[in-house]
Formats: sequence, structure tokens, C-alpha cells
Amino acid sequence: RSSKDKIDEVSNLTVAVRIRPMNTRELACVGATDIVRVRDNELIIRTHPNTGAGMSMDHIFQYDHVFWSCDEASPICTTQEDVFMTIGKPLLNSAFRGYNACLFAYGQTGSGKSFSMMGKNMCEIVDIDSERYSGITPRFCRDLFERISCLDIGWVATVEELRDWLLLGNKNRATAATNMNEKSSRSHSIFSIELCLSEGLNQGNSSRSRVSLVDLAGSERLGNSHNSEEKIREGVCINKSLLTLGKVISALADQKKNQFVPYRDSVLTWLLRESLGGNSLTSMLATISPASTHLDETLATLRYACQAR
Ligand code: ADP
Repeated sequence: RSSKDKIDEVSNLTVAVRIRPMNTRELACVGATDIVRVRDNELIIRTHPNTGAGMSMDHIFQYDHVFWSCDEASPICTTQEDVFMTIGKPLLNSAFRGYNACLFAYGQTGSGKSFSMMGKNMCEIVDIDSERYSGITPRFCRDLFERISCLDIGWVATVEELRDWLLLGNKNRATAATNMNEKSSRSHSIFSIELCLSEGLNQGNSSRSRVSLVDLAGSERLGNSHNSEEKIREGVCINKSLLTLGKVISALADQKKNQFVPYRDSVLTWLLRESLGGNSLTSMLATISPASTHLDETLATLRYACQAR
């Protein structure tokens, strides 16, 4: 087991950023450069203004973890397993101690949310156990069942059955998106598990906890010029739910101030209130592209993640 196995939660909120590699389109785009640098848990965006004498400007952000995924052969490249061990596994550990948990992937479409949550090709995850590119959710299920495999666990009996539910959910999301002539990036996807432990597994106590793993809708703002009224309305709804989510998370992270937590302000936060509230652990994974062509959305994502923290 890697040393990250031992990492456990130290606060109720963990914020991490993951940078995906440049894709072929970005590499082929004249003028698109890689503007992200990483120094431990510090992320630096270096911008080159068009005006001035070639002066560049650094925007520096700090997070609990920064996952760098460049060339796979590089030792600093983080794997799916690294990401899971650092921000997914602690949630599973705490669920076994009776705490609720929630993990979100936040970022613009194409930045790596589904890759991180589900895997390289989310509709084709066939082997939940050994798939190298499988994401946080299938790994979470695998480890969950490793820990409880000796038990009668009620409704869902095996990891295969759980995987089937997972795939069905993904398929429904994709179908709904196709029916609306849309990409599934315009919807939130929530995978929730309720864990009821009887005495024995939870060191003498029975407990109930809910874990939600959420692949959020793309955070990009839609311009009004080329969009139908319906699409604009939808965009407003998505923005509102993401904004409310940010407010809820930062209110929860700052419980000492006894802040009001606005769960009711969006359907998303209302649905997730159980996993978020009370004694719960939350992780946010903000995903970004390293390319200069996405600078504005990348800065917006990084700021959102900072505010939540
Ligand atoms: P999103 O869910 O945010 O819309 P995806 O997860 O679908 O974005 O990622 C877009 C593309 O980038 C996919 O082809 C995916 O395989 C690739 N990708 C994303 N993150 C990584 C990564 N960390 N390493 C390698 N490829 C990635």
C-alpha cells in the first residue's frame, strides 16, 4: 500500500485541484501555451499580456493538494490511484466511522471531471476491480466491498450489482442528454450510497452514513448571443446551483461562526443536505486545462475552489 493510504482527514473540507494534460486540439492551436506551474500544493498561472514589453504575470493559488497530470511516464504525474487515495479513501474511512461525506468534481466542460470521477471512458468501465484508468467512484465501490464483503449488506449484494447501478445511471444521463440534443455536461450526476453498519463492523456501535460522489455540470458561463431562451434559462439554473453549492460549502467549513447554511436555495444542495450537513467530510476536486486558451474559465474555477476553502 502507498503511504497515502495513511492520510486521513484533518479538517472537514479538503480542496484539491487537478490539471489535465494538454489535448491534441490545444497542442495544435497556434498561440496556445501551457500556463500552469505547480510547486507542492501551490498552483501558479503565468499569463503573458499581449501588451507591454513581454511582461508576464503570476497568479498564485494554494490548495490542500494539487494533482499534476503531465506525461504519464513522469514521476510527478499523479495517477487515478493517487487521486483516489488522497481525496476519496479518507471519505470512505470516515463513512465507516459513521460520518457523512461528499465529494464534488467542479470545472469547465472538458477539464477532467468525468475522467476523475468515473474514469477514462465512463460508459465502458467493464472491469471495476482492475481498470487502471477507473476513477474515484468505481474505486470507492471496490474498496467499500472489500471491507464489507463478508456480510449480508441488504439491498445491493455485490460490487457487480453496484457497478450495474452506476452504469445505468451514466447511461440514463447520456440518454437524457442526447434526447435534449445536449451534452451530459449540462447536468449534475450524483452517486449516493447509504451505509448502515451494525455492531461489529463499526467497533461496537451501529451507525448510518451517507456518501455522495458528484460530477457537477460544466461550470462555464454560456454567452447569450447564440443560445436559445431555454438554454439560457438552463445555464442560469446551473450557475445558481453551483453558486449555492459554493456558499453552502464555505458556510459549513466555517461552522464556528454559526453561519446560516442556504441548503434550500438550490435543488442540488437540498438533495445533498444529508451528505453535507452535520458531522460530515467534504472534498472538492477542481479540474482545469493547462492551456492559455482557457485562461478565463481556469481562473474562475481556481477562484471558486479558493472561496470554498
Ligand atoms: P469533463 O467531464 O470535465 O467534461 P472529461 O473528464 O470528459 O471532462 O475530460 C475531457 C477529456 O480529457 C477526456 O478525453 C479525458 O479522457 C481527458 N482527460 C481528462 N483528465 C485527464 C487526465 N488527468 N489525464 C489524461 N487525460 C485526461
